[in-house]
Amino acid sequence: YVRVRFAPSPTGMLHMGGLRTALYNYLLAKSKNGAFVLRIEDTDQTRLVPGAVDKLIHVLEWAGVVPDEGPKYGGEFGPYIQSQRLHVYDENAMNLLKNGLAYRCFCTPHRLELLRKEAMKRRENPGYDNRCRHLSNDQIEEKLAQNTPYVIRFKVDTAVKEHLEDLVFGSVTFDPSESERGDFVLVKSDKYPTYHFANVVDDHYMKITHVLRGIEWQSSTAKHLQIYRAFGWTPPKFAHLPLIMNSDGTKLSKRQGDSHVEYYKELGYYPEAVLNFITQMGGGFTVESTEGLTLKEMIPKFQMERINRNNGRMDIKRLDVMNQIHLQSRWRTGPQDLINKLKELVKEKYKDRFTDENQLSHILSDEFLRSVLEWSTVHRIFRLEDLLTADFEFIWILPDSLNHEQLDTFILDVKDILTKTTNILTTTKPFDEMTIAETLKHLSKETKSSFPKYMTLLRRVISGKKQGPSVGEMMQILGKSETLRRLQQALQ
Ligand code: GLU
Repeated sequence: YVRVRFAPSPTGMLHMGGLRTALYNYLLAKSKNGAFVLRIEDTDQTRLVPGAVDKLIHVLEWAGVVPDEGPKYGGEFGPYIQSQRLHVYDENAMNLLKNGLAYRCFCTPHRLELLRKEAMKRRENPGYDNRCRHLSNDQIEEKLAQNTPYVIRFKVDTAVKEHLEDLVFGSVTFDPSESERGDFVLVKSDKYPTYHFANVVDDHYMKITHVLRGIEWQSSTAKHLQIYRAFGWTPPKFAHLPLIMNSDGTKLSKRQGDSHVEYYKELGYYPEAVLNFITQMGGGFTVESTEGLTLKEMIPKFQMERINRNNGRMDIKRLDVMNQIHLQSRWRTGPQDLINKLKELVKEKYKDRFTDENQLSHILSDEFLRSVLEWSTVHRIFRLEDLLTADFEFIWILPDSLNHEQLDTFILDVKDILTKTTNILTTTKPFDEMTIAETLKHLSKETKSSFPKYMTLLRRVISGKKQGPSVGEMMQILGKSETLRRLQQALQ
């Protein structure tokens, strides 16, 4: 059987790399009929952010990556928040102490700081000199009687070179000279366990079979393997995931703000698109690309053996393309949902700009919104929210009435040509881009007015803008009555 876990520290918002780790764990569990556990690693009490756990769960649920067990979901291996499991770590630490595999260290922070400085001077890795390993029982009793603060350190066996069969990276041997020297801490002086200790104890008691986590944790595995051995426990299998980088090779999580999943959620990207995006690089699927797949469709295509070792470079612009694919498929399968959503968005943003009730209800009618979506989802927009940007403002609101002096700079007899335009468009049928374009071209010839100037004038009258889609396209999207209304307004 398969039991996996996502074990974030609640120190802030979930970033894209974290979501990818959660997703791959979820996919492994679901593709093997296993369980996906959420465990909160909050043993670093100095780094806690209030509300972070709720937010995290909220974002995971938004993405559809829903845990089977965890703080909100329960399960037979709880509690799933480490700060509620201190008794478990305590019991296990006592066990190691009793068996001589760990010891109390009473060294002061000041002494440790001196050791660190000396190591730096000698250009060595920082670490502990294991002094308290050699305290006598009497010395220990004395310190305890004085209530001297202490940590519990693990007796590292330097004779063993740790070796890992990483399911992604293959055979890995850890070089002790590259890691921290000396015995590391299992329990801190505030009685909270360190990440290493709590992580191993919990993975054991929660019966985790596979640990899938970011490559940045691979070097910690050396410590974890030692702890497993000390307890006589069988370690789970490990798979480390390559980094996701920006297209310029910088770390995705190092950029401000835009590395958080919530940022994309707020912008209106679909969860499927975000999931497709974060799986684009690094492999792990029987298909070349997950583009367009829903989470459910990704499950049978996931194969852990296919995850590759190279850090993936990812261009955030691809997210737009992926979102467009899901937008289009939603437009095909559930147009009314999109119409309703757009209605809400438009109402929210523009309702105060309307004095005319009829006008507002026209804009918010299903029929009008449907035609806007029909036109824009093909290739004009990536997200529904794009329709609320300046480029598309012309669809929703009339340009402020332009004064004639301004319009006169376009063409000599503005009034005349706008009147003629109104007349001819009244009878134009069908009222589509092509027909409109031909009609206007014809009129410009007839009146001997410069076509580009004429178009610039109409664009201003119709949209208040200098740029945008072609005039015919804009008129089609607005529809005949709205187009005529805007022409009329300019003539007043
Ligand atoms: N608490 C660690 C984190 O924040 C968990 C690493 C692991 O999965 O072992 O990512």
